[in-house]
Amino acid sequence: MPRPFTVEDHTARMARATAEATAAGLAGLVVAPGPDLAYLCGYSPTAITERLTALVLTAGNEPALVVPKLERPDAEKAVGAPALRLLDWSDGEDPFATAGPLLDPAGRYGVSDNTWALHLLGFQAALPRVSFTSLTDSLPMLRAVKDAEELDRLAAAGGAADAAYRRILEVDFAGRRETDVAADLGALLIQYGHSQVDFTVVGSGPNGANPHHEAGDRVIRTGDTVVLDFGGLKDGYGSDTTRTVHVGPDVPDEVRKVHELVRRAQQTAFEAVRPGVACQEIDRIARRVITEGGYGEYFIHRTGHGIGTTTHEPPYLVEGEERPLVPGMCFSIEPGVYLPGRFGVRIEDIVTVTPAGGRRFNNTPHELGIVA
Ligand code: ZN
Ligand code: ZN
Ligand code: ZN
Repeated sequence: MPRPFTVEDHTARMARATAEATAAGLAGLVVAPGPDLAYLCGYSPTAITERLTALVLTAGNEPALVVPKLERPDAEKAVGAPALRLLDWSDGEDPFATAGPLLDPAGRYGVSDNTWALHLLGFQAALPRVSFTSLTDSLPMLRAVKDAEELDRLAAAGGAADAAYRRILEVDFAGRRETDVAADLGALLIQYGHSQVDFTVVGSGPNGANPHHEAGDRVIRTGDTVVLDFGGLKDGYGSDTTRTVHVGPDVPDEVRKVHELVRRAQQTAFEAVRPGVACQEIDRIARRVITEGGYGEYFIHRTGHGIGTTTHEPPYLVEGEERPLVPGMCFSIEPGVYLPGRFGVRIEDIVTVTPAGGRRFNNTPHELGIVA
């Protein structure tokens, strides 16, 4: 078990978030339930509902958490609660009469991306001169640089996903539906300590050519190439790994060739990871390898995405993202080639930036796995 987060951890995160908001020209932040709230103050309501819950961070003020009165006892148990001023409102009252006065009536605020429209519109109606900007636009890197405790959790989540992959190589593929193998993968993630399974992609044969195919009723056959992409949350932090396997040992030449190309792209991009390199440069490096191999037009998505308390977050490794890699950032490197109607190949590891270069949180072999 990793060391539990403490009130000091959350106090420091909220102070840094407030300072970054000020530096970005904002009066503060308004954060609704979801990954940002959990990250900042350690509170995750059991249900996210129409009742307003909002953390308000403003420079010079104690962090304030507005909660429905009936959920106050839960909020008081949050790890960060001792660092918060709790304000509650009861059913039948206007929650914005409680939350509104926490905001500068003419300020500009960063609002967490997953705030319900209902609540943002409520703030806007109560405070017509306040303006809002999304955290993705204003503070995209708020959660991007992980501390040592977070890195431990991400490493453990990666290790658990790796254990699941090793076990899935032993199950039967031929004659079973994609959804059967996906259920096996989900059960293995839970067995190895995940609390939540976010996705279990089993893309067999032509389905592998659709990067976001999840799993369907297709019966897997000997001779299929199968993309396996799976992950979820363990101790609050994400895993996400992809390996491509072949059913049976008779691997067609083109599958071997494409797999080797994707493997080389992933490895070359990984070796380019170091502080100061622009995010887009990692994408360009992976893309160059695949383009030079003749399959550039079939690499149809960005090279990677950040991971932390969610399985998709900044930084994005994509053309146009000029921000530099910073030690502690964690993201996927997942080049792929998708041949419509035929098969797909993707290889994905979670990687963190260290002062000396990249470090992988997924360490299973990259070679084409052979399953039965
Ligand atoms: Zn995706
Ligand atoms: Zn993935
Ligand atoms: Zn991914």
